[in-house]
Amino acid sequence: MSERQLSDNISNLLARVSRAVDKYQRPPGDVTVLAVSKTRSADTVREAAQLGLAAFGENYLQEALEKIEALADLDLQWHFIGPIQSNKTRAIAEHFHWVHSVDRLKIARRLSEQRPAHLPPLHICLQVNVSGEASKAGVRLAELPALAAAVADLPNLALRGLMAIPAPCDDLARQRAPFAALREAMTALALPQLDTLSMGMSGDLEAAIAEGATLVRVGTDIFGPRG
Ligand SMILES: *Cc1c(COP(=O)(O)O)cnc(C)c1O
Repeated sequence: MSERQLSDNISNLLARVSRAVDKYQRPPGDVTVLAVSKTRSADTVREAAQLGLAAFGENYLQEALEKIEALADLDLQWHFIGPIQSNKTRAIAEHFHWVHSVDRLKIARRLSEQRPAHLPPLHICLQVNVSGEASKAGVRLAELPALAAAVADLPNLALRGLMAIPAPCDDLARQRAPFAALREAMTALALPQLDTLSMGMSGDLEAAIAEGATLVRVGTDIFGPRG
């Protein structure tokens, strides 16, 4: 994709986010964009950073580590958003600022133990399997309170909120239901440090913003279709 095209995509996306913020009467500045850069080259991420994006989401560890190293001269914030195997936790704890895909206490414990002492706490969202989830990943709603309480006690993690990936659907009203469920689940936890709802992607970010998303994770509408 040309730099011109990337620049147009980013402007269009930011305009789309601000229209939704206005329409659903969200406080200005309440919704940030996480650019999902999985499968994109380090050079493409560098261009996006030059165009003003600062937070990038990655799903595949090895690919991510290569980009993080290649772009170490930039002040970027890296978010891990993919499935986590236990043998990957150390590298994630060492190289990322945020993890959105924690759904088991065992993984959270390892991330906390392996977070290097010289770094600030790792910011965590718990991935929740709200009904109609596209993948099998995510803690079930019934098990969320116990997981959240346990994760909140881990010393080197900062529990910030919840994340979900509902099954894709085209209808705005139906898109909103799982996002509303995630928002209600976060409210019900009643933990004062929770301020992040990581929900909404290219195809459903308006519905997510309507229901309180504070962070939308966007790949396709920034970088184009993936291979
Ligand atoms: C790939 C991915 C996205 C971005 O999806 P798009 O439809 O390309 O915007 C968001 N969140 C997660 C967890 C992903 O894996």
